[in-house]
Amino acid sequence: MSLFKRLKNKFTASGDSISEKFKEGLVKTRDNFSNKINDLVSRYRTVDEDFFEELEEILIQADVGFETVMELVEELKMEVKKRNIKDPADVQSVISEKLIEIYESGDENLSTLNIQEDGLTVILFVGVNGVGKTTTIGKLAHKFKSEGKNVLLAAGDTFRAGAIDQLEVWGERVGVDVIKHAEGSDPAAVMYDAVQAARSRKADILLCDTAGRLQNKVNLMNELEKIKRVIEREIPGAPHEVLLVLDATTGQNALIQAKTFKEATDVSGIVLSKLDGTAKGGIVLAIRNEMNIPVKFVGLGEKMDDLQVFDPEKYVYGLFSDAIEKTEE
Ligand code: GDP
Ligand code: MG
Repeated sequence: MSLFKRLKNKFTASGDSISEKFKEGLVKTRDNFSNKINDLVSRYRTVDEDFFEELEEILIQADVGFETVMELVEELKMEVKKRNIKDPADVQSVISEKLIEIYESGDENLSTLNIQEDGLTVILFVGVNGVGKTTTIGKLAHKFKSEGKNVLLAAGDTFRAGAIDQLEVWGERVGVDVIKHAEGSDPAAVMYDAVQAARSRKADILLCDTAGRLQNKVNLMNELEKIKRVIEREIPGAPHEVLLVLDATTGQNALIQAKTFKEATDVSGIVLSKLDGTAKGGIVLAIRNEMNIPVKFVGLGEKMDDLQVFDPEKYVYGLFSDAIEKTEE
């Protein structure tokens, strides 16, 4: 069975609303990236060098990233040769297969969070200003709460008063408490109090917001180290996850931020926000392939339930499903 048929069966038969979310959230990327590939496939009669060159161009424009594109196209060429594919239309499903393969290569657990089943799980959120840290914390708090978990938030972005208020608004919306200090206070002190509060209230999950000042790498490193030290001293093994939030609409800039943060602290996973706001959704693949950090969640909108566990099959299905329907009719 072709990949597309398998994915279609998997996601339509189950009435999976999450793959619908991916489809909706990827509208812009689909209009840009997938339609260009469809157009390419329909314009060529044979799969030749020119075909691959145009394909490279489309992939690069979709922010898949130079290295990843080169790797992908190299493998495509080999596969096309091996299977003796002549018709460009048949290349489309190979492209999708390779996209999923690139994502799934590597053996670490891709999307699961390191959750402590008995005891407190501390998750630290890092990333520059405006990428969506606070929003992601609100969405994740909602997700954990609806799973019956006892959730607490720590207002570690003490740099701006607005940031503390914003987290409180999310706390009220979701129905979880926020531990905060005054604007300008030491974020490490907020974390200390938050950990104590989480302990005494027997919380399951503590989600920690931080400021996104990226003055320079040394300051960033010092600030994050101090926060982590305080948390770790109180709870050995914590923080259990350090999630770097990146804004998908910033394209290659997001990759540069990922490099900086990776050097400054141990990032365990990435949340790629605002995937709904970009036509260049290929950035997911670039981040995965070039940074070797798993994308654990993607943001597909501003609402509470717009955070989704990243699933490469759903992503690829979301990108190509319309085209597949057409070619299989
Ligand atoms: P922070 O400075 O990193 O805490 O970023 P915020 O959480 O304040 O988010 C900045 C802006 O991005 C806000 O207006 C959010 O509503 C918006 N935002 C965050 N995540 C998403 C997303 O997945 N999709 C869209 N469309 N907007 C988002
Ligand atoms: Mg914030």
